[in-house]
Amino acid sequence: MDPRVEQFMAQIIAKNPNENEFHQAVQEVAESLIPYIEENPKYKHAKILDRIAEPERVILFRIPWLDDKGEIQINKGYRIEMNSAIGPYKGGLRFHPTVNLSILKFLAFEQVFKNSLTTLPMGGGKGGSDFDPKGKSDNEVMRFCQSFMTELCKHIGHNTDVPAGDIGVGGREIGYMFGQYKRIRNEFVGVLTGKGTMYGGSLIRPEATGYGAVYFAEEMLKTRGDSFKGKIVAVSGSGNVAQFATEKVNELGGKVVTLSDSAGFIHDPNGIDAEKLAYVMELKNVKRGRIKEYADKYGCEYYEGKRPWGIKCDVALPSATQNEINEEEAKTLVANGCFVISEGANMPSTPEAVEVYLQNKILYGPGKAANAGGVAVSGLEMSQNSLRLSWTREEVDQRLNQIMKDIHATCEKYGKDSEGFIDYVKGANIGGFVKVAEAMLAQGAV
Ligand code: NDP
Repeated sequence: MDPRVEQFMAQIIAKNPNENEFHQAVQEVAESLIPYIEENPKYKHAKILDRIAEPERVILFRIPWLDDKGEIQINKGYRIEMNSAIGPYKGGLRFHPTVNLSILKFLAFEQVFKNSLTTLPMGGGKGGSDFDPKGKSDNEVMRFCQSFMTELCKHIGHNTDVPAGDIGVGGREIGYMFGQYKRIRNEFVGVLTGKGTMYGGSLIRPEATGYGAVYFAEEMLKTRGDSFKGKIVAVSGSGNVAQFATEKVNELGGKVVTLSDSAGFIHDPNGIDAEKLAYVMELKNVKRGRIKEYADKYGCEYYEGKRPWGIKCDVALPSATQNEINEEEAKTLVANGCFVISEGANMPSTPEAVEVYLQNKILYGPGKAANAGGVAVSGLEMSQNSLRLSWTREEVDQRLNQIMKDIHATCEKYGKDSEGFIDYVKGANIGGFVKVAEAMLAQGAV
């Protein structure tokens, strides 16, 4: 490791002990940025990177709620307000039993760079709870969301901090939280994104992250004169991002052969076409069942407790969670001919896996670039709310597509080496950093 990075990381680890995911995210960025900052000493003197790695504010709270048996349950609630140099804090809420401070700080840190890359005026934040919506009744989810928002509403606002969805937080949860915010604050404003279209949501917001990750992969393919036509695609997850990534791959002529959830994955060599995808959406979004049921219905293989990276594919779209591809799995993907990875999920590849991609010079789009489509359309939802207008599906989709192309161009600008290879990690980190750093310099020591 570069000794300057090592020294910087020693400080981060000492100040934030036991936050492994946060250390991982900061180190990846520091490796790209520290050499760049050495060449641009104004950022070094103003300690911009040190400041970006310290949240502006961390809010921690208790969420008491009553389950269906009338028993009190208690969860932890969090909001990390990471950086507001270029706009109000913006980033999703995650409801999952694994949620902790380290995971939310890594997500909030990544969000700062991602939001900057979109070119829209959004700072970075993230939040959530260790609450598990799985197996809970609608009423329990509603009571939990109301209790969560009863505290959170004191800290957010349409000009201050605008949360959205993430793992475990979809349209249902956003609706319950929006209702409670409006009730307590007595104002109808765009304080959350991912809302239903009947009360201020944007068309294409549900599709945006998955579509965006595929648009980004398409831009990467174009650099090699290639396209999705005829490509075999492995997707992980079966939630929001995975579903709409699958839909867009089908539209562009590729074939998705895997989906997963936390219990295992299915392999359907015939491809998950529109009809099968409609079944997955019903299964996951309405019945809230397990992906195994897909294998029972369509008679394909189900691999309990396994991840899909051993399946031969040209393109991989990890769309479940962090650290879901390790070094061995990355080597297997590459050995099987996979040459495009576009990350729908946040930090799904371990640092060792990323090293494998870079050494093999495959097309690797890290999450902060490849999955920025979700927050980009959240930004467009904020614009529409401020204008009190709604744009058409075509208009939003066209803007999303353009934003993904622009992010690709930024990565190329900062990440292309003398031999023409694009290091998208470096490109995204430096490209995302510059605007935030310049805004922080302009605003002084705040
Ligand atoms: P969903 O809750 O809709 O779906 C998550 C999917 O990932 C489910 O299939 C879930 O399986 C699986 N999963 C979750 N945790 C784990 C785990 N620990 N191990 C294995 N599988 C797991 O979430 P999203 O689709 O919204 O989010 C997926 C990823 O995309 C996350 O990394 C998120 O941060 C990222 N992302 C999402 C954005 C958005 O707009 N929604 C924007 C940008 C990034 P199960 O059903 O068994 O829990």
